[in-house]
Amino acid sequence: MPSYTAPVEDMMFLFEKLRDNKKYNELEKYKEVSSDLVKDILEEAAKINQNLILPLAKAGDENPAVLENGVVRTPPGYKEAYKKYIDDGWTSLSCDPKYGGQGMPKTVSAFFDEMLSSASLSFKLYSELSIGAYNCINHHASDELKEKYLPKIVEGKWSGTMCLTEPVCGTDLGLLKTKAEKQNDGTYKISGQKIFITSGDHDLTENIIHLVIARATDSPAGTKGISLFLVPKFTVNDDGSIGPRNGISTGSIESKMGIKGSATCVLNFDEASGYMIGKKDKGLNAMFTMMNLERIVVGIQGLGISEIAYQNSLAYAKERKQGKTNKTKSTNGADFIIEHADIRRSLLNMKSIIEGERALCFWLSQQTEVSLNHQDEKVRQEASDFVSLMTPVVKSLFTDLGMEITNDAMQIHGGYGYTKDQGIEQLYRDNRITPIYEGTNSVQAADLVFRKLSNKNGDIINKFIDLIKSETDLDNEKIKPFTKEFKYYLDILSKFSEWINEKTKSDKDDVSAAANDYLKTLGFVSVAYAWIKVLDISFKDYNENKNFYDDKINTAKFYFEKVLPRAELHYKSAISGSSNIMNFKFN
Ligand SMILES: Cc1cc2nc3c(=O)[nH]c(=O)nc-3n(C[C@H](O)[C@H](O)[C@H](O)COP(=O)(O)OP(=O)(O)OC[C@H]3O[C@@H](n4cnc5c(N)ncnc54)[C@H](O)[C@@H]3O)c2cc1C
Repeated sequence: MPSYTAPVEDMMFLFEKLRDNKKYNELEKYKEVSSDLVKDILEEAAKINQNLILPLAKAGDENPAVLENGVVRTPPGYKEAYKKYIDDGWTSLSCDPKYGGQGMPKTVSAFFDEMLSSASLSFKLYSELSIGAYNCINHHASDELKEKYLPKIVEGKWSGTMCLTEPVCGTDLGLLKTKAEKQNDGTYKISGQKIFITSGDHDLTENIIHLVIARATDSPAGTKGISLFLVPKFTVNDDGSIGPRNGISTGSIESKMGIKGSATCVLNFDEASGYMIGKKDKGLNAMFTMMNLERIVVGIQGLGISEIAYQNSLAYAKERKQGKTNKTKSTNGADFIIEHADIRRSLLNMKSIIEGERALCFWLSQQTEVSLNHQDEKVRQEASDFVSLMTPVVKSLFTDLGMEITNDAMQIHGGYGYTKDQGIEQLYRDNRITPIYEGTNSVQAADLVFRKLSNKNGDIINKFIDLIKSETDLDNEKIKPFTKEFKYYLDILSKFSEWINEKTKSDKDDVSAAANDYLKTLGFVSVAYAWIKVLDISFKDYNENKNFYDDKINTAKFYFEKVLPRAELHYKSAISGSSNIMNFKFN
């Protein structure tokens, strides 16, 4: 089983030194969130993840969730762990105190999401969509529904799901067939089949609150006729107690490559009672509240799995002896593999990506809080545009690099990585879903190039580039070699953005074919931007903690020399266009 130590020191470094968003620091509601409080939370979070949740990863992989006589049973140990998890209040961390939450900012809950993803993604998924459902209900449902459903979801006694996918509709939700028939009392009867529903059924909570998209019988075809409904597994009485079972049954659960402890269900809705959330035919807008925040969390899943893969690779490289290096230190035959240049390169590749991603994610968490809570609408809007721009980037880049890192972790472990004993191949398998669900990474890339670079508020990508320019123009001699290099790649991002802008007017296939490359260029440059922020502090506060900051400076050096150049390769590959791709005859 892989071991795991939560990176609390790095997280506290970010929380204490990189909370540099003035607008975030203006938010009244988070003024009380002190470093001491956050440190206490993270230390407790580390304990529960390292001790209680980590062993569930192997347990879930070896004993997947099963459907027995119409009931879904979670793997051994999940029930006991979930009880402790909710008793300790982890589901309520970032929820509104009005509904029993602890009101912590996303700058803190994102750290918890990362730890939980490192410990066991399968276990995490049972509460992850509850938070998504909480966000969606909180933003779009009536006060009556909020009061009836949110406290139990926040407490973790009830969980949530997101029911979009159907046999013929995955990416293209306009094709959905599930229908909603209005009743005289204003409720709806929902009928149809949903597939691939994460935590669609299980034995951890008393009730499951499904958020289902469906088409009202008098609504138009396509995406313009989709509404969103709250459909509980058990109906809920007026006093909040649980009533009879609703018309929902579990058809089967999927047998999967990874995240085997997570129950991925086929759900059949047979005239199940549901309540409309938000406006009729505007269901996708409401669902996107859930999906956008969820997509960032999926990016964090990739980061969390990368972290545990790195930690175990480093430990293994320090204990495995094979071959001799050019400057061998061995007296009895072989050096530790960590002495080999290629292994060191691979470890630094992981480390520099992971720490840069964590810093970027911390920046994004601050922007997200500003976009949701700042009192000035203009400030909220600007932050919201940056969050929209970066959401597909974080989702796709972090999960794709999660594949690279878990793959490299297997390679460092050699044959012991491929066989099951060390649990490294499980990290690769578990991570493999992250580039697929919540909208595939290619679809995220298309969303980025066609919808996120500019909107009714203007040219968002250039506003982002201007922000980066102003924040990386630093008056510090030591950082100059980094900012000089950075400027070169920022210019490439500007040229690439201009190319996309021009091609959008002339040849959309060129843009589609370039979308994944563009996302990567923007992603690698954005991670470098986060590294510049880290470097700035590292040089300024160097004497406070020399070892820590030396480590940061040298890791950043690796990122700038060996990782950031990929931004240019993606640009060069993309601008060759799409004519050969589109004219090629597949036989
Ligand atoms: C383990 C697991 C858990 C899941 N959990 C949930 C859940 O809780 N709720 C839920 O509703 N769904 C869930 N899903 C479904 C998941 O979100 C979909 O599988 C995913 O969105 C892709 O849809 P699809 O499988 O139908 O693939 P398709 O949409 O058929 O896509 C197939 C391929 O075509 C590409 N493609 C499709 N359209 C385009 C386009 N316009 N441009 C370019 N390329 C395109 C895709 O990128 C992909 O490579 C889950 C799936 C799995 C496997």
